[in-house]
Amino acid sequence: MKYIDEFQDPELARRLLDEIHATVTRPWALMEVCGGQTHSIIRHGIDQLLPEQVELIHGPGCPVCVTPLEVIDKALEIASRPGVIFCSFGDMLRVPGTGRDLFTVRGEGGDVRVVYSPLDALRIAQQNPDRQVVFFGIGFETTAPPNAMTVYQARRLGIPNFSLLVSHVRVPPAIEAIMRSPSCRVQGFLAAGHVCSVMGVDEYPELAERHRVPIVVTGFEPLDILEGVRRTVAQLERGEHTVDNAYPRAVRPEGNPAAKAMLADVFEVTDRAWRGIGVIPASGWRLSAEYRDFDAEFRFSVEDIKTREPDACRSGEVLQGLIKPHECEAFGTLCTPRTPLGATMVSSEGACAAYYLYRRLDLTPAPREATSVV
Ligand code: SF4
Repeated sequence: MKYIDEFQDPELARRLLDEIHATVTRPWALMEVCGGQTHSIIRHGIDQLLPEQVELIHGPGCPVCVTPLEVIDKALEIASRPGVIFCSFGDMLRVPGTGRDLFTVRGEGGDVRVVYSPLDALRIAQQNPDRQVVFFGIGFETTAPPNAMTVYQARRLGIPNFSLLVSHVRVPPAIEAIMRSPSCRVQGFLAAGHVCSVMGVDEYPELAERHRVPIVVTGFEPLDILEGVRRTVAQLERGEHTVDNAYPRAVRPEGNPAAKAMLADVFEVTDRAWRGIGVIPASGWRLSAEYRDFDAEFRFSVEDIKTREPDACRSGEVLQGLIKPHECEAFGTLCTPRTPLGATMVSSEGACAAYYLYRRLDLTPAPREATSVV
């Protein structure tokens, strides 16, 4: 498949690995920001092929994982109300709230529907004018533009029975929070390429300069990851800390101006809680005052729901790169994909799910002599 097969070429991967091995002279800790990158790394064994001095720390970029428990509980409350059709992407249905999930609500008679686009939910609202239709709008800068556009369309078309339960988050404030943490070990970032394809790279030079960390915009295929690592390590070895775009086939420096304009019209920046991490200033979006009528939190008066994370789940530490998933005592025992305690075990981009799926089940140091990334 074009743009995928050529980025999984084993010969080119070997050459990149040789270059990384030849460049490294001391230990470096790099964070891949996105959960999609984490899955690619674990699936292809990339971390096991790198020099021992290069550690990949898994970052917080899994949208399902960082959606706070109290937002899940708000979704459960709204979805349980009579007359509500609650629409969501499928990956949110098994995310545990306090004591249950959206699947449970559906089993109890709630009208919970899986959709493939927020516009599907808007269509359902048009077809059911006597019902309240809510779409669960979560995620990073990648999913926020279509959700913004859907609310824009709801207002333009006059569809008053549609609303959005919003929990959108932004990557740069999360990088800032990670770098400010006293326990931070990260020395360089592989930034999430798809986020930058929307937002561009304008927000990163200041971060790179302030924290003296290289930030390399990186894609998702094995060669993308290796090239991101190669460029980051090269900067670190030279003592540099600049922003570098290693994913130019998808990312333009200015990003996607139309998507950014839609975001600026419909949303405004707000403080946002991240699951297991806490509130990060200016790290999220909410509907702006002009669109507040479409905010499900206000419409269903669930703003005051407050909840507490289960003590056994250490997903906050996983999401900050402070522990690897299998260092959590519950990993693979109390917590499995069938019996998840935290969202990082459920989500297709969650680090705990990646470690479970690809059998990284114990604390034995990973072998470094694997021979192929594909
Ligand atoms: S293994 Fe389960 S309990 Fe442990 S951090 Fe991951 S999701 Fe939470």
